[in-house]
Amino acid sequence: MSTQEDETPFDEYRDEVDRPLSRLFLEYGPGRLHWFAIGMVANFVAQMSSLLPPLILGAAIDAIFTGGGEYTLPLIPDVWLPAAEAGQFWFSVGTIAAAFILVGVFTWIYGVSANLFAHDVMHTVRVDCFRKMQNLDMTFFDDKQTGEVMAVLNNDTQNLEMFLDNALVNSLRLLVMVGGITAILFLLNWQLAFVTLVAIPAMFAFTYWFMVTVEPRYVRQRAAVGWLNTRLENSLSGMGLTKTTSSEDYEVGRVRKASKRLFDDTMAVLKLSYVYRPGMELLAGIAFAATFLVGGWWIMMDTAPGPMTGDLQVGEFVTFLFLTQFIVAPLAEVSNIVDQYENAKASSERVFGLMDIPAYVTDPADPEPLEDVRGHVEYDGVSFSYSATEARAVGEDLEGDEEVVVEDVSFEAEPGDTVALVGPTGAGKSTVLKLLLRLYDVDEGAIRVDGHDVRDVCVSDVRGAVGYVSQETFLFDGTIADNIRYGQFDAPMADVREAARAAQAHEFITDLEERYETRVGERGVKLSGGQRQRVALARTVLQDPEILILDEATSAVDTKTELMIQQSIDRLTEGRTTLAIAHRLSTIREADRILVLEGGRVVERGDHDTLLEADGRYATLWAAQAGNLDHALETLADGGE
Ligand code: ADP
Repeated sequence: MSTQEDETPFDEYRDEVDRPLSRLFLEYGPGRLHWFAIGMVANFVAQMSSLLPPLILGAAIDAIFTGGGEYTLPLIPDVWLPAAEAGQFWFSVGTIAAAFILVGVFTWIYGVSANLFAHDVMHTVRVDCFRKMQNLDMTFFDDKQTGEVMAVLNNDTQNLEMFLDNALVNSLRLLVMVGGITAILFLLNWQLAFVTLVAIPAMFAFTYWFMVTVEPRYVRQRAAVGWLNTRLENSLSGMGLTKTTSSEDYEVGRVRKASKRLFDDTMAVLKLSYVYRPGMELLAGIAFAATFLVGGWWIMMDTAPGPMTGDLQVGEFVTFLFLTQFIVAPLAEVSNIVDQYENAKASSERVFGLMDIPAYVTDPADPEPLEDVRGHVEYDGVSFSYSATEARAVGEDLEGDEEVVVEDVSFEAEPGDTVALVGPTGAGKSTVLKLLLRLYDVDEGAIRVDGHDVRDVCVSDVRGAVGYVSQETFLFDGTIADNIRYGQFDAPMADVREAARAAQAHEFITDLEERYETRVGERGVKLSGGQRQRVALARTVLQDPEILILDEATSAVDTKTELMIQQSIDRLTEGRTTLAIAHRLSTIREADRILVLEGGRVVERGDHDTLLEADGRYATLWAAQAGNLDHALETLADGGE
C-alpha cells in the first residue's frame, strides 16, 4: 500500500519484542507500583460502595415504607441492624450518605493515583526512548524515519498512558461490578437472578462478535492515521517546493485523499459500534423487562411464577431493577478495554522495538585515552559500504553483494597538514570524512588519530577533537549565542563574541536589534545563507578542534560573503589538521596533499603542482575550472558581487 509499510530495521526489532506489556510492567513498574496498587484498591472500594444505596433502598422499602417486612441486608448479621423503625430509617439515611461519600473520596483517590502512575510511566518511557534514539547509529536516521520516531514518542507513549489509566481501572470495574452484582443478586433471590442474568452470556457473545469483527477495521484505521501523518509531515517540510511550483492544489488533493481514507476507515469502525452500542442497550433492556415481568408478576399475584418457589419482596424487586441497570455500563466498556489493550500492546512493541535497536558505533569496553591531541590522522586501507552497514543493523550478511562506497583508501596527514579530496559527485568524498567522525564505522582497515584507532577511544573524545564544517548548516531554534555555544554549553559570552569575530560574524550580529540574543527561528530561517554559515563557523571556532573537516560550501552565497567565509575558514584552518572536500579547486591550491577520488578509490595523489605536471584527471579538472576562475576574477575587479 504505502511506503511506510516497507520493512525497515525498525520492524525487525519490533517483531522480536516478547510479551511487551509484561515487560512494560517489569521495567517501568518498580518504584511506582504503590500508585498502581493504591489506585486499584481505591477503585475497588469505590465500586463496592456504589452498590450499597440500592441494597439499603430495597431493605428500607420492605421494612419501613411498605411496613411489616424485616430489615435485612446481605452478609450483615441482623443483630447488628437497628430493631426499631425510626432507627432503621436513620441508619438507611446515614449509610446511603456514607456510601456516596465513600464513592466520592475513593473515586478521587483512584483517579489521582492511577493518573500519577500512568503519566509517570509515560513520561519516563518518552525520555528513555528519546535518550536511546540519541545514541542510535547514523544509519538509522539515514532511512529518514523521523516521522516514525515522532509517532513512537507521541502516540505510542500516549496509548500506553491511556491503557494504564483507563483500561486497567475499567477492567477492575468490570470484574467488581459483574462479579459483585451477580453475587448480590444470587444472595437476594437466586431464582430471579437467573432471569436477570440470562442476558449476560448474550452480552458477552455479542461483545466477542464485535471485537473480532472490529479488529481488522481498527488495524486499517491505525494504518490510515500513520499514512495521513506521513503525508502531512512530508507536505509541510516541502512547503517551499510546493509554493515555488504552484502545487498547492496538488498537495491539498494528496492530503484530501489520505484524510478521506482515514474518514472511510473510521466510518467502517463506527458503523460496527452503531450496531454494538444499541445492541448492548437492547440486551440490557431485555434483561430489565424480563426481570420486571417475572418479578412484577410474582409480587402482583403474590405467588411464585412457573417453577419458582418462595416470596419476593417489593424492596428486593427494586434492588434487582437498580442493579440490573448497573451492569450494562461496565460491560459496554469491554470492547474499549480490549481495544486499548490491543493498542497498548502494539505501542509497547513499537516502544521496545525502538529501545532494542542496537547501536554499533559505541564506546569500547576499555577506551584508550585521547588527550592532548596533536592532530595526526591516518587512513589505513579503509573500505566502507552503506549497504553492508545497514544489513548488519538487521543481522544480515550481504555476502559480497554490498555496494562498496569507499575502497582501500589510505593517506596520512601530519599535524597541521591540509589534505584535500576532489572528484566527481558521488565519488565517496563525504563518506571518507564521515568515517573519521565515526558517523559510521569502517568495514575494513582503520582510521587512526595520533596513533589511536578511532574505535578504541570514546566516541565523544574523537568527535570533540574533530570539527565538522558542512555544506548544510543547521541552527536550532534559539538565540544566536545559544547556537554558537551549542556543544560548548558553558562557554562564557566573551569567548562566544571572540569566536564570532574570528568567523566574521560579529559585525552582522551586532547590527541585529537584539544582537547575540536574536532568535534565529526554526532551522535558522531568519538569517541569510551566508549568515547561517558564519554562525556555524563561529561554533566550530569556539569548539577549537585540533582536526577540521571542511565539506566545502557549494550553496549559493554572493561573492563577497564567499570571500569573507573563505577568509574565516583560512583563519580557522591555521595550525589545525584539515581534511577538506573542495569543489572549487582554487581553494585547495596550497593543500599539502590532494587526493582525487573516483568510485570510492584514490586514483591520483600529490600536491597541486605535481598533479598538474602528471597531466591526469586533476589537470583536466583544473583546466575546466580555470576558465571560470578567470571569469570570477574579472567580475570581482569590476566591483560586482
Ligand atoms: P561525494 O561526497 O563524493 O559526493 P558521497 O560520499 O556523498 O559522495 O556518496 C558516495 C556514495 O554513497 C553515493 O553513491 C551515494 O549515493 C552513497 N551514499 C551517500 N550517503 C549515503 C547514505 N547515507 N546511505 C546510503 N548511501 C549513501
